[in-house]
Amino acid sequence: MAIIKILGTAGARYVVARQLRSSAGTYIEHLGTRIMLDPGPGTLVRMAQEKPRIPVEKLHSIILTHAHLDHSNDVNILIDGLTEGGLKKRGTLFCPQECLSGDNAVVLRYLRPYLKDIQILKAHQLYTIGDITFETACRHYHPTETYGLIFHLSSQRVGFLVDTLFFPDLIKSYALCDVLIINVVRYKPHPSPNVQHLCIADVRTLLERIKPQKAILTHFGMTMIRARPKQVAEKLSQELGLEVIAAYDGLTLEI
Ligand SMILES: [Zn+2]
Repeated sequence: MAIIKILGTAGARYVVARQLRSSAGTYIEHLGTRIMLDPGPGTLVRMAQEKPRIPVEKLHSIILTHAHLDHSNDVNILIDGLTEGGLKKRGTLFCPQECLSGDNAVVLRYLRPYLKDIQILKAHQLYTIGDITFETACRHYHPTETYGLIFHLSSQRVGFLVDTLFFPDLIKSYALCDVLIINVVRYKPHPSPNVQHLCIADVRTLLERIKPQKAILTHFGMTMIRARPKQVAEKLSQELGLEVIAAYDGLTLEI
């Protein structure tokens, strides 16, 4: 059995800045392999506050889907914690190249040699860490290099459809997912094409076509919070005849 714990469900500037929801990452554990995915602000604090504590020094891996702060803020402190300040060479970081080079390199250079390995995420590749295998989806439409992920856990495919503007290839990329966790920042579409996030109409289209056994909505911006995610998910569930739930901070899924 695998455990997925969504520590935080905040998705956009306003909700993150005011911590209306936590912006911590998602913890994944399967057969003794432990991963922290997209450690946004507050991840280390939430890990320490969990009962029982999620031990940072026992993580095997940190994965960044992209460099944006709400996905990467705690990556450096997690590397420091996991390697005990570099005393123990441990852990594998997976991230797109843009997290490591150029103006938005979010991983501090002095910490990089502390890690056992750094692997670069590219589209449609298979990766393994301990007992967990995952693949990258297509590159998303987002202002920085971004990949969604599909984990193979207990013969189930669990997709993390992270930040993106809607485009039809998403349907193909996530078609085989049994469980689909979707970042839905917006309730209604944003008038500006520069805001590259999904809205509920996009989610409806995706779920109609992909038909996962279970869908989980998360990463909410203010318009989603105001629309009440639980009610939005219930309505989608009824309309589509699928199980759709809204994540809350600390939601734990057993796969
Ligand atoms: Zn983003």
